[in-house]
Amino acid sequence: MKKISIFGATGSIGQSTIDLIARDPDAYDVVALTGGQNIGQLAKDARQLGADVAVTADPAHLDALRDALAGSGVEALAGPEAISAAAERPADWVMSAIVGAAGLAPGLKALQQGATLALANKESLVTAGRLIMRTARENNARILPVDSEHSAVFQGLVGEDMSAVERIIITASGGAFRDWSLEDMAQATPEQASSHPNWNMGQRITIDSASMFNKALEVIETKEFFECDHSMIEVLIHPESMIHAMVGFNDGALMAHVGPPDMRHAIGYALHWPERRKLPVERLDLAKIGTFNFRDPDLQRYPALRLAHEVLAQGGHAGAIFNAAKERALDGFLNRRIGFLQMAEVVEEVLDRLLASQCRKNDEMTLDTVLETDHLARRAADVVMAELNT
Ligand code: NDP
Ligand code: MG
Repeated sequence: MKKISIFGATGSIGQSTIDLIARDPDAYDVVALTGGQNIGQLAKDARQLGADVAVTADPAHLDALRDALAGSGVEALAGPEAISAAAERPADWVMSAIVGAAGLAPGLKALQQGATLALANKESLVTAGRLIMRTARENNARILPVDSEHSAVFQGLVGEDMSAVERIIITASGGAFRDWSLEDMAQATPEQASSHPNWNMGQRITIDSASMFNKALEVIETKEFFECDHSMIEVLIHPESMIHAMVGFNDGALMAHVGPPDMRHAIGYALHWPERRKLPVERLDLAKIGTFNFRDPDLQRYPALRLAHEVLAQGGHAGAIFNAAKERALDGFLNRRIGFLQMAEVVEEVLDRLLASQCRKNDEMTLDTVLETDHLARRAADVVMAELNT
């Protein structure tokens, strides 16, 4: 039996992972499930899967979690430290699907105990790519990408030599505002930004798709995970979301990964790797689909993409600044403190200010330096948003 833990079990990726596990319960021994506010779902899944422990990030919910698990034999714990400690419990395979920078610490703990880390939490690679990759190497642990584009590239590289790769193209649907004017985007509400044309995902990544901050994170994620030069990475708008990524080789071949927009493919690939097993995803009828469209992204509409390349040119802790400022700006947009297009303005201003102050420029990267940088960038984002509002 494969011992597994799921961090962010109550979210969109976590629930898709549980959907796959629950189809073959005898194959898995579930160690830890973690969640945040959704105690009902966490307790239900922990009972059904017979988890050893269920952890909520929020200590205010500990009593409710205990009550919901009474008599089940599942241990109930709470708080960020308890989540990190749960990642130290031995497991063969760990799904990292917490949203945001909160996913970094448990992911590192899982790698330190040598687990295979199925990484959906792209923020880990964006904030601390070098640290994550180094920790995996030092502990002989493997990271398998779960983000659909990165899983697609990973699959496209099987049996290939990285030195033969000329470019990596990740696709983007264009999100909710693909065909909106800039004037309309400036007025967009959180409700309008929270619906995605093709994918069904958590709210934060859905809004990040409309602003292309999600694709900007993915450009950084690509560079960190595949350890390639960032000039090799291209973003292509593909409204159908069927081709997830392409790898271009030095003989002119372009290998495309085609599949339905269903995260259970990438999750299942990581779950069964290095084997391929049957998965409950739609089989595409290409004749019925008929046409695939492509176009270049307009950097005027999506400044996040330009910022991603600036972050990569800077290196060091710039990714942690970028991600934290983005998370705070997204909070500001959700709370209606700033407009949709102002999110990029806030992030650019925070990057400018902190990079000008040489923030952590030459420091070696540790969990502490990343968390301190994250904290500084959040405070700077609050200052910038307050200035914008006066
Ligand atoms: P969701 O918002 O649906 O789920 C997030 C999960 O994290 C929930 O379990 C939530 O708990 C938990 N959580 C929220 N805040 C905290 C915190 N501070 N500490 C600990 N746990 C917390 O997100 P998604 O599933 O959409 O995304 C998860 C990750 O996967 C993100 O990094 C995202 O970028 C990435 N990803 C997602 C894809 C998708 O299709 N959804 C595709 C590719 C990558 P609760 O809900 O109980 O409050
Ligand atoms: Mg993706």
